[in-house]
Amino acid sequence: QEWIDTGEANPGAFRELEGVTKDSSPAPLELAIRPIETSSDSTLLLASMIDLKERKRAEEQMMLASNRLVMATKAGRIGIWDYDVVNNRLYWDDRMYELYGVSPERFSGAYEAWEQGLHPEDREREPEKLRRAMRGEDEFDTEFRVVWPEDGSVHFIKANGTVLRDGAGRPLRVIGTNWDITEQRQAEEELQTARDQAEAANRAKSEFLANMSHEIRTPMNGIIGMADLLRSTPLEQEQREYVDLISRSADALLAVINDILDFSKIEAGKLALDAQEFDLRDAIGDTLHTLAYRAQGKGLELAYQVQADVPDRIVSDAGRIRQVLINLVGNAIKFTERGEVVVDVSLESLTRDQASLHFTVQDTGIGIAEDKLQSIFESFTQAESSTTRTYGGTGLGLAISRKLVHLMKGRIWVDSKLGAGSTFHFTVLTGLGSGTSAHHRAAPETLDGLRVLVVDDNTTNRRILEEVLRSWEMDPGCAQNGEEALNLLRTAREQGNPFRLVLLDVMMPGMDGLEVARRIRQEHGESGPEIIHLSSAGRPLRDGTEQPPMPSADHRVLIKPVKPSSLLDAISWLFGSATRQELAPPAALPSRDVLPMTVLLAEDGRVNQMVAVKILEDRGHHVVLAPDGQAAVELFPTQTFDAILMDVQMPRLDGYAATAAIRRHEQRGGSHIPIIAMTANALKGDREKCIEAGMDDYVAKPVRARELCAVLEKFGTPAAGGPGSAKADPAVMNQGKFRESLKEPALMRELIDLFPVESTMALESARTALTAGDAEALHHWAHKLKGMVGVYEAKRAWEAAMRLDTLARQGDLQRAQSVLTDCEREVALLRDALADFRAALV
Ligand code: ADP
Repeated sequence: QEWIDTGEANPGAFRELEGVTKDSSPAPLELAIRPIETSSDSTLLLASMIDLKERKRAEEQMMLASNRLVMATKAGRIGIWDYDVVNNRLYWDDRMYELYGVSPERFSGAYEAWEQGLHPEDREREPEKLRRAMRGEDEFDTEFRVVWPEDGSVHFIKANGTVLRDGAGRPLRVIGTNWDITEQRQAEEELQTARDQAEAANRAKSEFLANMSHEIRTPMNGIIGMADLLRSTPLEQEQREYVDLISRSADALLAVINDILDFSKIEAGKLALDAQEFDLRDAIGDTLHTLAYRAQGKGLELAYQVQADVPDRIVSDAGRIRQVLINLVGNAIKFTERGEVVVDVSLESLTRDQASLHFTVQDTGIGIAEDKLQSIFESFTQAESSTTRTYGGTGLGLAISRKLVHLMKGRIWVDSKLGAGSTFHFTVLTGLGSGTSAHHRAAPETLDGLRVLVVDDNTTNRRILEEVLRSWEMDPGCAQNGEEALNLLRTAREQGNPFRLVLLDVMMPGMDGLEVARRIRQEHGESGPEIIHLSSAGRPLRDGTEQPPMPSADHRVLIKPVKPSSLLDAISWLFGSATRQELAPPAALPSRDVLPMTVLLAEDGRVNQMVAVKILEDRGHHVVLAPDGQAAVELFPTQTFDAILMDVQMPRLDGYAATAAIRRHEQRGGSHIPIIAMTANALKGDREKCIEAGMDDYVAKPVRARELCAVLEKFGTPAAGGPGSAKADPAVMNQGKFRESLKEPALMRELIDLFPVESTMALESARTALTAGDAEALHHWAHKLKGMVGVYEAKRAWEAAMRLDTLARQGDLQRAQSVLTDCEREVALLRDALADFRAALV
């Protein structure tokens, strides 16, 4: 109409109209009309219409999206930036101004404005990151600090951006976001500081504990040593009990302190492992022997087994493995009233240079409630608060064990049910010893098929011994009591396939091992089987540890739990497949068969001086005292000494410096005097430090008589036949006589034949004296007995006699009762052993 009316062309060409579709819904349209020139008069109009519905929808979506973006960035307090690379212009949204603390009016809009907002320390790095992103080398995703120009406050910003490029890959724009992470960063920093502080505090605490326990050990020294001295003076019964109580309490306290020291050393990261090559089977056997007494005291059977595929020689910290084992086995014994404790070692995995060993300690004790299975490994935690009273303990043992096991790259855990016993497991990763691929010692071929009867009332023991014997290709049989054993022996002989050897448990209900042995001899006589007694453990030392029992000199008594290597030694010896030389009886009495020594003692502590002097003089040694290192250096050249005992911490000149001075002095003469360090430093590395300083050996304080003498006397001159032993005990002087007589069968036979007669007389007289309450006479006979058994180097009998002698001297007749019984038992064993030996000689 417009066109018709005005005759002008449609100015807009396009027009939007609202149309209606057939189904009456609105339809936005675009209309274009154009006149077309024709030759005739008539006018032609060309109209085109486009349906706008799709385009409208797209536009609405765009609007919505950008609204959403704006709202989202607002809600997230995110700033958006857009850098026009070509024109070097920067566009910021409102939030960006807030983040940089500038007003839009003061913002130049040039790229440099951003750089100026950065913290001076970030001003180089961050623009470089942006340039790298534009070169396409990296993402722009970073954190930096900005400084607000108004107040100089610092804010942490997280930023990222995307680069838009032209067809040739040149950057056109970079668009991205910024947001504030100041609070988050502050929280993180605070957390880190708190963590650092906590760690430092924990370390300080552990160091404090380590120092403190170290400090406590020193006076403990005095208490333990003086109590020891006190008990060797004449005391009334009541006083003696009090001294005993002091000693026991002091020992218990020392054990707790040692635990705490250990624990805090590990916590403070001060405990390093001392990995050395050692024989695993021996180490385990020896460790368990020291616990056997405790087990025996409760009537528990303690057994162990190392699986055949476990390597013999490994590289690890033997002391620490031993410590964990002692903790676990000690607990097992503590928490078990009836039954057995069994240790098993198996191979978890093996590579060319490493083995993972799996230890289990299984008991038949009270068990642990399920909800306590984890927490008992925490420090100072016990499964029951009441256990503290019933069983004692600090709750540190397992915590220490766990830490040690972790240090050794292993795990520790427990399977247990309340009332149904517990099995503790641990693994350790060890290195392999050099040149030993052979797992464990094979038995000589001559022993193949050897018929051996195992007699033991404990099933586990029978099973383990049977397995061991089988692994040596022997032919074992088992009996669980004396009757059965006698029957089996009889039947086997009748069938013409007699047993050649009987492994006989001494402690059995009903007929005990000694009785069984007697009956076997009666019934089978000279042609009967050889017998090896399996006897229970040694006795406790007064410090509560157990003295590792020595195998008897003639290999006919083995200590339970039986070490397979000792068993094989014994069997080989009895059946002649090893030379006697190879298996010479162990030097039974480890000490005292040396000449009295002249010892220079450098020690500043009064108490320690007294303790050491007393210990040494009691052993018949001569002591010259130097009150400090300087005095030791000055005294050293004035006289001939056999050894020097050197305290490490001393005034004027400490032990290291004194040693150095003495060694310098010696260089002129070319001699070398043994110097033994005495130190309360229980920390690792002290031993090495002493050795490095030129000392020869080391004893830890508090010094114990046994250890001190053992270490010192290693450097002494053997007494055999030597002069100047007037001070030594006659019982000791006889030492070795029997061994020497090995070369003279006639003399040996004489010695053997004398023994039953003499010993019976001594024992019977001692018994009479005891019954009559005659301490004097008892002392006389105990002393005689001691001398007698000393001849044969029978350590256990000798010790029993010695204890009897001491008790008699002290007039303690009550305790002498049970010790005399010990003597009788040991002498009987010795008598049997000698009889066998004589038979073998014939
Ligand atoms: P302690 O024995 O000195 O209390 P440990 O750390 O060695 O400390 O043991 C923690 C606790 O774990 C013990 O008090 C006891 O409750 C429990 N426990 C450990 N071993 C056994 C076990 N063999 N049988 C039963 N309970 C055990």
